Amino acid sequence: MPSTFSARENKALTAICVSCLKPTPTALMVSLAGSGNGGGPKQYSVCFACANNGWRPPGFSGVYSPRYE
Ligand SMILES: [Zn+2]
Repeated sequence: MPSTFSARENKALTAICVSCLKPTPTALMVSLAGSGNGGGPKQYSVCFACANNGWRPPGFSGVYSPRYE
């Protein structure tokens, strides 16, 4: 089980949630496929909380199963 200390040291494994804009450990995020500005495929990384609250990227056509830490 990772300690709070090691999680804090692992800044490289943190990304910004595209929905709430909070830095979030990537282990607590999910990548959803949507479409970008040009209409091409684009991956959106959001935290579990936003995804579980129903956030979906533009053009999202997949199925999301809620995940929890
Ligand atoms: Zn979020």
